[in-house]
Amino acid sequence: MRTQLLYLSDSSKLEFEAMVERVLPLPGGRCGAVLDGTYFYPTGGGQAYDTGFLGERRVLDVYKDEQAGEVVHVLDGEISPGLVSGRIDAMRRLRHMQHHTAQHLLTQCFLQVAGLDTVSAHISGDKPSSFDLPAPGIDAGSLARAEELANQVVFEDRAVKGYFVTPEELSRLPVRRPPSVSEDIRIVEIDGFDHVPCGGTHCTSTGMIGLVKVVRQERQGEQLRISFVAGWQALDLFRQSFDTLGSLAAQAGTAARELPALFERQSEQLRLAQHELQALQAERVELEAVRLAQAAEICGGKRVALAALPPRPGGLRPLGEALARQPGLAAVLGMYENGKVSLLVACAPDSGVDARRLLQELLALSGGRGGGSPGLAQGGFAAPDDPLPALLAQAVASLCAG
Ligand SMILES: [Zn+2]
Repeated sequence: MRTQLLYLSDSSKLEFEAMVERVLPLPGGRCGAVLDGTYFYPTGGGQAYDTGFLGERRVLDVYKDEQAGEVVHVLDGEISPGLVSGRIDAMRRLRHMQHHTAQHLLTQCFLQVAGLDTVSAHISGDKPSSFDLPAPGIDAGSLARAEELANQVVFEDRAVKGYFVTPEELSRLPVRRPPSVSEDIRIVEIDGFDHVPCGGTHCTSTGMIGLVKVVRQERQGEQLRISFVAGWQALDLFRQSFDTLGSLAAQAGTAARELPALFERQSEQLRLAQHELQALQAERVELEAVRLAQAAEICGGKRVALAALPPRPGGLRPLGEALARQPGLAAVLGMYENGKVSLLVACAPDSGVDARRLLQELLALSGGRGGGSPGLAQGGFAAPDDPLPALLAQAVASLCAG
């Protein structure tokens, strides 16, 4: 690598001076700067790049050009070759280091507790990070023990060291996976607990990781994705959860620990109330049908009820079904809402009227569509103005003529 990867030797150095050796013009007024050495971490190994400043220019992205052996800093404008001061966004870097080191730690914990070695990892600074285990699932006890062990190692505040080793030295170390490179092999060690080849940025002791909490486990085919938070991210989540729970408890006028029992009681009450409401609605529809049947007129020897109804939740069907049970009755219901007409024809078996046939007759002029059975038929169409008065008059005419 022509660019010296200075972050490997000191992950706590966030301000430095370096020489801009090469400038690459990039689209959109941006430019790429290659330094003789950099403390900016370029995306790699599951961890995202650092942001910050080079001189007055914002560093928007940092990546490794493996072929050229260079680290490219993508800047928001032009920069001149020569000496420049670099400043890394401290919070973003720390959050990445906390999650990255927590991932090493948790990976070793799951290996010790469940014999599962991490397959791949994704480190994020502003949302939960994750790693995948080679099993479709894990029992709750093992998961809790792995999380417990990770926090125990955090509280022990063990040193985290990064150092280069020769192949001979490597062969004597209990690394949990072989290096992906054959030279410049760098080991990251959580003192006496975990050894792994890695080129990322890490906390300098486990205490710096802060609290570690597993927040989700989800099956991904034959693998299990474990999502976790640590350090600042864990504090963010704790504050958010604490505030949400506190405001819910205050609204409910109870203690937070009483909320599950309260919700259980309330959902049971809601279930009973919904049940009662359904029964009352059914009763109301039945009464409405009886009233319409009582007001029915005799037309062409048939008992006919007509009604243009205001829009109602659940539509016309429940009332139609109740009307079809009224002895000898043929009923036509209409509803007009937002430029749409709904029509329903309900006929008792002894009414002498075929609901389907009457509906087709009523829809024929407007080009509407619909269908059903001889007892109950429904249809509709779009209309700019309310056509119900004319349609109901047509229904009367048709029934009287028939
Ligand atoms: Zn690492």
